[in-house]
Amino acid sequence: MLDVEKIRADFPILARKMNGKPLAYLDNAATTQKPLAVLEAMDGYYSQHNANIHRGAYSLSQEATDAYEDARKNVAVFIGARADEIIFTKNATESLNVVAAMTCENSPKSSGILLTQMEHHSNIVPWQLQAKLRGQHIAYVKIRSNGTLCSEDVEKELASQPSIFSFTHVSNVLGTVNDAKALCGKARKAGALSCVDAAQSVPHMKVDVKEMGCDFLAFSAHKMLGPTGVGVLYMKRELQQKFEPVFGGGDMIKSVSFKGAEWNEPPHKFEAGTQNVAGAVGLSAAVDYLQKIGMKNIEEHERALAKYCVDALSSVKGIRVHGPKKERAGLVSFNIGKIHAHDVGEFANADGIAIRAGHHCAMPLMKVLGEAATCRASFYVYNKEEEIDRLATAMKKAQNVLS
Ligand code: PMP
Repeated sequence: MLDVEKIRADFPILARKMNGKPLAYLDNAATTQKPLAVLEAMDGYYSQHNANIHRGAYSLSQEATDAYEDARKNVAVFIGARADEIIFTKNATESLNVVAAMTCENSPKSSGILLTQMEHHSNIVPWQLQAKLRGQHIAYVKIRSNGTLCSEDVEKELASQPSIFSFTHVSNVLGTVNDAKALCGKARKAGALSCVDAAQSVPHMKVDVKEMGCDFLAFSAHKMLGPTGVGVLYMKRELQQKFEPVFGGGDMIKSVSFKGAEWNEPPHKFEAGTQNVAGAVGLSAAVDYLQKIGMKNIEEHERALAKYCVDALSSVKGIRVHGPKKERAGLVSFNIGKIHAHDVGEFANADGIAIRAGHHCAMPLMKVLGEAATCRASFYVYNKEEEIDRLATAMKKAQNVLS
């Protein structure tokens, strides 16, 4: 059991009122709030240690370099990787764009890319850009009506030997938790690389990349109590020499001449230009904060809230809850009758409740679900049942007034 009130005291923003009501922040799949520990770590970096990293011949630059490289080590331990397998990026989206560009460039023309119908645009559009550029084709694993991946379809699509299978670990719309270990194993058996979009899993459950067996894994700091503007790309050590960097510039080279350049050792080979050092420091503080609570405790807390939410919403007339009935991560997407999701969202907002309404950057999935948009409540360490009770009451009101 988490001590939610103690945790809430670490997040000044949660004491705010919205529209005269206490803020109930239920949009954590979009971004999370930041504890004082993260804000203070970043402030401390800027006020005491700031300098450019890796190149200064002075002590302050060494302090900044140490802060950045310590953050890399901390993130590596958090996901069971080696420090040199952690590449800092801008966000999960940039990580996935890098994987798409690197792997497609290295794959034969007309080879296949395998995705699923439940992907976020971040794990669709980068592949579409590459496919268009290089004449490669994309297939999508279908989902079942209960919101899970169709395993026969995985087998069928992998049999046509795509060069890579890129899939989400946890769906940001359905809350489906895919068996990433099994899917990576199947990809490997079929001779395909595996890439895991972990934007909705790393913040909420224990993820170990070695245990999972993925080749690439992407996530964002801002969805796990860290700052915006920093993300992570895990890239297996064995693959780091095989691929050319996508971005060129300072720090990623060993030497440059007018003719060409020689790359720096990974991970620096994949980090061009001045990095978001304060962002990495903030992410590292977020990792410490999460580890202190314990990832198992966090996962249990959120799953219990999701179950509580599904039960609480079931008394709203005309409710349709999307995604699996069991094995749901900490988020709940729903619609009420024919009422537009945006109208429902505005109704919640009037009561100080922040939920997301829209296509959640998953327009192809919306088409499969037959919905233009959905409402989504998503939970984190600081959420409590009382907030879900308020949501259910607001939804009943919305149903009464708007239908
Ligand atoms: N994948 C999934 C499953 C997501 O939910 C998100 C964010 N909504 C992303 C990728 C992209 O994350 P970011 O915008 O931080 O790059």
